[in-house]
This record gives sequence, structure tokens and C-alpha cells, in this order.
Amino acid sequence: MESIRSVPGVGSKMAERFAILGIRTLEDMISFMPRSYDDRTQERMIADTTEENPTAICRIYVKKTSSFYNKKHEKTLKATVVDDEGTEMDLLCFNRSFLENSLYPGSSWYIIAQIMIKDDPTFFGRKRYRSSASFELKKTKSEAGIGTILPIYPLTEGLTEKIMRQAAEYALRTLDIMDSLPFSIYERYHLLHEKEAYNLLHFPKSLKDAERARKSLAFSELFSLLFPLLRGKPERKSGSVPMTESEKALISSLPFSLTEDQLKAAEEIREDLSSGTPMNRLLQGDVGSGKTLVAWISALHAIEKGGQVAFMAPTELLAKQHADGASDLLSKLGIRIAFLSGNVKGQPRRLLLQSLKNGDIDLIIGTHALFSEDVEFRNLTLAIIDEQHRFGIRQREALAEKGHKPSVLYMTATPIPRSLALTMLADYDISTLKTMPSGRIPIKTHTVFQESTRKAMYETIGVEFQRGHQAYFVYPRIDDEGEGNLLDVTTMYSKLKEIYPEVPSALIHSKLPEEEKMQILNDFRNKKIMYLVATSVVEVGIDVPDATCMVIEHAERFGLAALHQLRGRVGRSSLPSYCFLVAIGNLTEDARQRLKIMKETNDGFLIADKDLEIRGPGDIGDGERQSGFIALKFSSIATDLRLVEAVRAECERILKEDRGLLKAENAPLRNISQKR
Ligand code: ADP
Ligand code: MG
Repeated sequence: MESIRSVPGVGSKMAERFAILGIRTLEDMISFMPRSYDDRTQERMIADTTEENPTAICRIYVKKTSSFYNKKHEKTLKATVVDDEGTEMDLLCFNRSFLENSLYPGSSWYIIAQIMIKDDPTFFGRKRYRSSASFELKKTKSEAGIGTILPIYPLTEGLTEKIMRQAAEYALRTLDIMDSLPFSIYERYHLLHEKEAYNLLHFPKSLKDAERARKSLAFSELFSLLFPLLRGKPERKSGSVPMTESEKALISSLPFSLTEDQLKAAEEIREDLSSGTPMNRLLQGDVGSGKTLVAWISALHAIEKGGQVAFMAPTELLAKQHADGASDLLSKLGIRIAFLSGNVKGQPRRLLLQSLKNGDIDLIIGTHALFSEDVEFRNLTLAIIDEQHRFGIRQREALAEKGHKPSVLYMTATPIPRSLALTMLADYDISTLKTMPSGRIPIKTHTVFQESTRKAMYETIGVEFQRGHQAYFVYPRIDDEGEGNLLDVTTMYSKLKEIYPEVPSALIHSKLPEEEKMQILNDFRNKKIMYLVATSVVEVGIDVPDATCMVIEHAERFGLAALHQLRGRVGRSSLPSYCFLVAIGNLTEDARQRLKIMKETNDGFLIADKDLEIRGPGDIGDGERQSGFIALKFSSIATDLRLVEAVRAECERILKEDRGLLKAENAPLRNISQKR
């Protein structure tokens, strides 16, 4: 690797500035992507400039010059010039009155000038006044770069575009750039060979060239990221695996039939569990799509094959809800279920852990307490992790270490945009629940932008209470620390009590003791409580079918994923349901966008895509993987889906070929060892 200092004119001081941009070597320099391009392929006349596109590149003639003094008594030259179309403007030479010698009346130049436009009839007596204080003068067309495209790099203090261009040019000229992909790929996907791609990335002949160069380089970048991930992914033999009698019994005991997607996901999981290689599967499905049931069916399968199952939820509240659900469904089939959280202590905990170790418990449901060091299993074969986006990878590993490499099923209601699924999660298999259980009515989403609309909202909800339906009122945080305009959840709670004096309610937030929260939630489920005033503790997973109203205060403060999750707490039965997004006051453009999307669609997959567009991939998935993605130089996970698909397909094709070859090579080897 050759240091950036080998570029003529780059000394140690300059090298430090390059280092700030992450450029230490010539190799770094060639993969330093221009942030945009200065397209000088066409001349641009003065009259064609706009606020967004302020650069004129053309020939001008100097009509007349004059000088004036500014407040600091500095002499400023003003040259009135005209281009070939006859459009006039002033070049203002602050502190550059020496330009008098160049810009004399009658002289002609090529200019690259940033033009300011003022539409003020009183200004200098002209309707449209154009001037430029930032311009370059060039003698010839080629000096002005007309006919070329120049790269514009992100800069740091002390670096100029000129130095960057020189460095790029030098690096491209000196480095021996080799292809990094198998030769045939370039032809198959019409990719530029890397030498040409790097050259055109920095010095394209057209903007199309630049994009083609970027795509070619993005292809090899994604390839080198995905290929090792996919190569490491075990190949599972697939073949259909029938349901056990108990699974059939469980399914026929339900008051509804499973959706196609639920059946398919359960089948995919069965096949994985029987394949002899640990499963690594993500079950993604929109809120309310019925993931939990798929989990129980799979758990039943694993248990009947002689294993133990651990089911982990992100909060105690959810874990408890799941434990109740599981015991309703599975106890009658003879499954021995236990619950574990940090609050299970002393003698009960010791007994529980002993039974788990002896294999007297088939299914254990709990919080991250399932990771504690003292928790041992007899034969953990399947770990199910609900709402996986809430877990760090370390915790997952800790659980995975409990058994002999158990299969892992991650469940998430935050659909993974396809491009992310294909890259970041390349080594996972994915099952998707797209169809919703039948009979569901789409949630009606209303925005409340004014205090006056609030009344109508309260009325609608009042009617729902009369029908015996329930509601959530959600606030972004518990109290009002520091931010005066935030509705205090406690005062709001008393306000609601005035509005609905007869309706039993409860306040629930993360600072309440677990036990109390659980009691409240139970009362809510049993309709002793008709509405909850809550902070976002209700965000994930809570399932109360008769809740039909979701009010989200300060909706502008929530991200799309959180809004969608919250809204998903209603619409969980065949009752019509409502979501009110309250956002009063000035909204940022992003917030407005988010609320608009929420109003327009209930489709979590669409929302996830939009979320990715608005936020970029940074916030999605877990840190470890992300870091690899932040390092991507040429590819954009958010927008390069087709490219990602092509790379993925190519990796799989090559691996298939390779595996074919490997098998052929293995065969004679086995013969030899048999002879011995
Ligand atoms: P999520 O995918 O958000 O975790 P849940 O598993 O909590 O969703 O399921 C939501 C609700 O839908 C539960 O009350 C569940 O019993 C119910 N449900 C699940 N599958 C079906 C189905 N096929 N038909 C009708 N209701 C279903
Ligand atoms: Mg769930």
C-alpha cells in the first residue's frame, strides 16, 4: 500500500488532512467516492442559471468597469459583462481589484461563476439583477474544463477540490488496478472492469458513466460482503416433514383456521428442525399476523422430537402474556411449561432450575433472565426469540450457548426491507407472514392536528366504551422533565377521568413495579379496566382483542416503526378499530411525512421500506452487522435493491457450482478411505 504522501505536493501536513477523510493510501484515494459531479459537458449561459443550479459556464465580454468602496474602505471592482446571448451581469471583485488588469472593457474570458439572482425592481433600476462574487476566469475553453465532468469530493479544512482531483488522478495513474471478481461475472452483468470503473468514477465522460462505474464497484463490494456470509450458511436438505398428532390436535382446537402463511412458516420450520443442522430463521410478520401461534406449533414439534424449548420475550409483561397463552393452548397436550424472570427468586427459582436441568420442563418462557449463568437445560433444541429487534446479538449468543447449538427462531414485527434481508441478514432463512388472519378490518387512522378536533376524538372513543370496547392512550414519556410542552401523562390521566367519569382506567408506565404492571394488564384483559393511559410500554406484542382505540399523543415524536407497532395493538379481532395520531403544533417535514404514511397505509412492509428511505439503514438491525454496512462505500442498501438481488443470485450460483464440484471431489476420497 502506497501512502498518500507519494502524491506530488502532498506533505505530512496535507497527509493529516487526507487522514481526516479516511484517506491514508492511494488505494483509499481511488475508492473515495465523489459526492457529486460538476457537469461541464455543456456550456451554461447566464440566463439558464437558477437557484438550484447557479453555475454559469460560458464565454463573456466585459462591457464596462467601475469601482466602489465598501464600508471598510476596501476597493471593489465591478465589471459588467455580457455573454453570447446578450445576458448581462456584474462580476463583483471584493478585495480583488487587481483583476482590473484582466477585466478591462472589451476583454473576453471563459467564466465559471456562481450567480446570484435578485428579483427586485428597485435594485439598480433592473427587474432581474444578476451578479457573481465567486467566479473563475479562464483563457480557453479547455482550461475552463468545458466538455468535461469534474468530481466534487467531500472536503475538510485545508483541502481543496483541486488537490483532491490531483491526488485521484495520480493514484489512478500509478496504481495497478486489478479485477477482484471472477472474470465471467463482468460479462454476465455488463460490469466495467475495475480499472476502468475507478477511472470513470472519478473522471467520467458522462453522468451515466459515473453511475455505471459506481454500480460496477458496488457489485464487487456487495459480493465480497455477501459471499463469505452465504458460504458459511449451512446447506440444509429439504424434504417434507409431516405434522405430529399433537400439532394437528392443537390446530384443530383453535376457534379459527390458520392462514396459508402460518401453515407454510410452520412447515418451513419443521423441515429445518429435522434437517440435522441448526436452524437460523427469522419469522417476520406484520403486527397481528399471528406469529406467536407459529411459535407454539414449532415448539410442540421440537418437544415431541425430544427437545426442550426456550421462549424469550423482551419484557416481563410480554413474557407473562405469552406464558398464559401457552398454558391455555399447550398444557392440555401434556406440555410442561414454566415461567422465569428476574423476579422469580429463592426456593421457587432453585426448584425450577433443577427441573429444567432434569428435563422435567419442556417449555420455558421468560425474559432475558433465561440467559443467566445458573440456567441449565437438559437438551435445549429450539430457542424462540420474540420481537428480536429489541435484543442485542450478545444475548442471543448467550442463549445459543445453553444447548448444543440449538435452532433459533427470531420473530419480528418490524418487517425487514428486502434489500436489508438479502444483505445484512444473508445468513438467515426467512419466513414471512404476509396474509392477515381473515375477518380483520383495516384500522382507520386519523390525524388530530388541532385542539378542536380532540373533542370529536373523545366522542368516538366514548361510543366505543359504550359498546364494551377498550382503548389505549399513549404518551412519549412519563413526566414533564425539562420540556414544558410535553403533556404530562399523569395530568392527562386525571383529565381523562373527567371526560370519562364512569369508565374504569389505569395508569401504566415503566417505573411501576413489574407486579403492578402485570396486575393492571390482567385487569385490562379481563375488562375490569377499560382504558390504559400509558407510556410506550405497550408498544410491543400486547394482545387484547377487544381494544379498538389507540390514541398516540405527540405522535410526531415517534418513529415510523414505533407508530406502526403501537397502532398494531388494536385491530386484533374482527371489530372495527381506530388509531388517532395527535400532533399539535409545528411539525418538521420528516414528522409530517411519517404521519402521512401512517394515514395512508396499514401495510407494515411498505412502512418499513419508507422508514428505510427516510432514515437510512443505520438504525435497523443490530450494531455488529451494521458496522459492516456503514463501511459500504459504493452501495446504498436503501436504493440498490436490484443490484443486491443480482449479487445474491450470483453468489448462490457460484456456491451451487462449487458444492457440486466439492461433492465430486469427495467421492473418490471416501473410496480410498474405505479401502484402508
Ligand atoms: P403478532 O404476529 O403481532 O405477534 P399474535 O401472534 O399476537 O400477533 O396474534 C394476534 C392475534 O391474532 C392473537 O389474538 C391470535 O390469537 C390471533 N390469531 C392468530 N392466528 C390467527 C388466525 N389464523 N385467525 C384468526 N386469529 C388469529
Ligand atoms: Mg407478537
